[in-house]
Amino acid sequence: MLGVSRRWRREGQAIGLVPTMGALHAGHLSLVERSCRENHRVVVSIFVNPIQFGPGEDFERYPRDAERDAEVLAKAGVDFIYRPTVAVMYPTGSSTRIHVAGVSEPLEGRARPGHFDGVATVVAKLFTAVEPDRAYFGQKDAQQVTVVKRMAQDLGFPVEIRVSATVREPDGLALSSRNAYLAPEERKAAVCLSSALRLASGAYARGERSPERLRRTLWERLEVEPLAQVEYAELVDPETFSAHGSLAVLAVRIGRTRLIDNHDLAMDFPG
Ligand code: AMP
Repeated sequence: MLGVSRRWRREGQAIGLVPTMGALHAGHLSLVERSCRENHRVVVSIFVNPIQFGPGEDFERYPRDAERDAEVLAKAGVDFIYRPTVAVMYPTGSSTRIHVAGVSEPLEGRARPGHFDGVATVVAKLFTAVEPDRAYFGQKDAQQVTVVKRMAQDLGFPVEIRVSATVREPDGLALSSRNAYLAPEERKAAVCLSSALRLASGAYARGERSPERLRRTLWERLEVEPLAQVEYAELVDPETFSAHGSLAVLAVRIGRTRLIDNHDLAMDFPG
């Protein structure tokens, strides 16, 4: 991989990287298309990263469809699909992990111990393998964006992190490879996440600023959904992910499927 990207660099071509775990959907494609507009060359990595999954999570059953992904990316005009194996990424004996203290610790970090160490480590390895000028991430995984930005800055990677808006289904559900797990009844129930964000955003637009009342708005909408089990629904500062800010962040289980979503209440909810 590095030989290819270094050749491109010598030729003066800007390289964009879109890290993914495959099972590509329109959310991924929005990042790919943006990267194609903003760079001469685009690399999409597809790697279901075992070390960002905890014990009992869905690593084994995570959706994989290499053939379809390759077709979709060829159509989008991607120059290179980087698909390392687990043995290449983590050869026997490799033991280094990157821990981004602070921002990686609350919310998703608390709910999924070790998750962000796995994310920070694999993204650093992808940056080393590809040496991109720009890397593209989705706002859907808001805390991941903050963790990756911190890691890139702290380790001195000369890469610009660009963040794109969350792509949603017409009813508001954020696209996610994990939506494929949802049974039809669960798919209907899953709208409660975006619906809660929309309600809180509406309240904010009408002048509500009490963190308790905005948080209550989120919880009340989620709790009326019998198939939903709320893991967290909080308002946080988007820079630090600590208490009290305008970013509403949710993690909700619908049956066995864990979904996350977020929205900055200071902005209108789309749709
Ligand atoms: P994943 O394959 O789930 O690791 O996601 C790869 C990248 O796509 C990450 O930067 C995600 O934040 C981004 N992404 C996932 N879902 C969406 C979405 N619905 N809209 C925009 N970006 C997304």
